[in-house]
Amino acid sequence: MNQLQDFILDDEDRSFRAEVRAFLARELEPRASAIEDEDSWDAVKAVVRSLGEAGYLTLMFKDLYRGWLAKPGLTHATILSEEAAAINYAFETTIGTALSCAYPLHRYAAPAVRERYLGDIIDGRSVGAIGVTEPAAGSDTSRLQTRISYDEASREWVINGLKRYISNAGVADVYIMYGVTDPEAPAGKGLSAVVVPAGTPGLTFPRRYTFMGRRGCIVGEVEMKDVRVPRDHMLGEPGQGTRIMVSMFNFERAILGGSGLGVARTAFGIARDHAQTREAFGQKLGSKQLIWSTVAEMSWRIDAAELLTYRAAKLYDAGITGKELAKPAAMAKLVATETAVFCADRAVQILGGDGITKEYGRAEQLYRDARALPIVGGTSEMARYLIASADLPDVKPNL
Ligand SMILES: Cc1cc2nc3c(=O)[nH]c(=O)nc-3n(C[C@H](O)[C@H](O)[C@H](O)COP(=O)(O)OP(=O)(O)OC[C@H]3O[C@@H](n4cnc5c(N)ncnc54)[C@H](O)[C@@H]3O)c2cc1C
Repeated sequence: MNQLQDFILDDEDRSFRAEVRAFLARELEPRASAIEDEDSWDAVKAVVRSLGEAGYLTLMFKDLYRGWLAKPGLTHATILSEEAAAINYAFETTIGTALSCAYPLHRYAAPAVRERYLGDIIDGRSVGAIGVTEPAAGSDTSRLQTRISYDEASREWVINGLKRYISNAGVADVYIMYGVTDPEAPAGKGLSAVVVPAGTPGLTFPRRYTFMGRRGCIVGEVEMKDVRVPRDHMLGEPGQGTRIMVSMFNFERAILGGSGLGVARTAFGIARDHAQTREAFGQKLGSKQLIWSTVAEMSWRIDAAELLTYRAAKLYDAGITGKELAKPAAMAKLVATETAVFCADRAVQILGGDGITKEYGRAEQLYRDARALPIVGGTSEMARYLIASADLPDVKPNL
């Protein structure tokens, strides 16, 4: 282990990391092969349940937190993400989604709605989903077609639309769905978010995707045809959807930084061990310049990712949010997720044939899993845009 690891973290954070690592070694590691080899949703749910029981899903909510940390927050949620992704990135996405769903419920839901849905999510008894992406609207969320209209007679919101690439589609207990409430408003201004419980008539799941990696994760389409929810199921006020989305993306990006870091760290460990044991041309692989140079590049990229990721998390915990956090959060996500892809790819290369077989360890799985990281939660291109927008305020970079 890199001696400088955790440079930005304090003693309490480090103790928390040690505790979480031991917890996940007990709860996640024994189930990791069922998640990867059998696509086992039951195994995923069992770990989510134990995370909830241990209180780890309350880390983002100081008023609900039950544990020993003096100041729980995004730093600790990011540590959790990193440690889980180091074992199994597919599982980690379930934590990310749980927190992304719990956060807007905690911050924006009417008290009765929060009471009804939030407790079960943070206790790990139920699973949430977030519905932003649509066939015509991926990175460009101003193109959302889903319509949310108000029926005065029944005092209900009526939702119509098709979402795609939704994590936990069909297995979630509660969905936070984004759509347009004011089609006349300027692009991005008329968006709102509503809470839709599973089982609501008109909510269906037409397709489940098969991905190159992230086995055990369930991702699919969600279709809404005249789906009705009570008036108080709107999060915040109508038209606040973009604000809610942006606040969620900011902390999600630090958490994804943690995921990238976890994947990169595991890939690095595999490559480093192989470089020090495998012999070729009379010497250990690691003594060959092309190999040690690659190991060095993996190492400095991981350190850079770590510093950026925990800087973003610490800034958030210090009360920096909104536009001010957008650039550091985007940098964390960009560098850590691209580092995961780089390290997974180089680990495979250093292992040679062993790197692309299932018989010799996890390098091939990391390679398949890592590729999603620069796409989910805002692509690398969108992260670059956010960084450049902060750096070029007089120019307004276009998309
Ligand atoms: C495994 C997985 C899980 C997901 N889970 C969820 C979820 O739970 N909820 C949810 O709402 N969404 C989810 N998504 C969707 C994800 O957020 C989107 O895939 C992502 O935002 C990109 O959108 P897109 O796939 O439509 O690509 P597009 O937006 O069509 O982009 C395609 C490519 O073009 C690039 N690009 C786009 N515009 C520009 C530009 N102006 N300049 C330069 N390059 C550009 C993009 O960066 C990308 O590389 C998930 C996706 C995956 C793969």
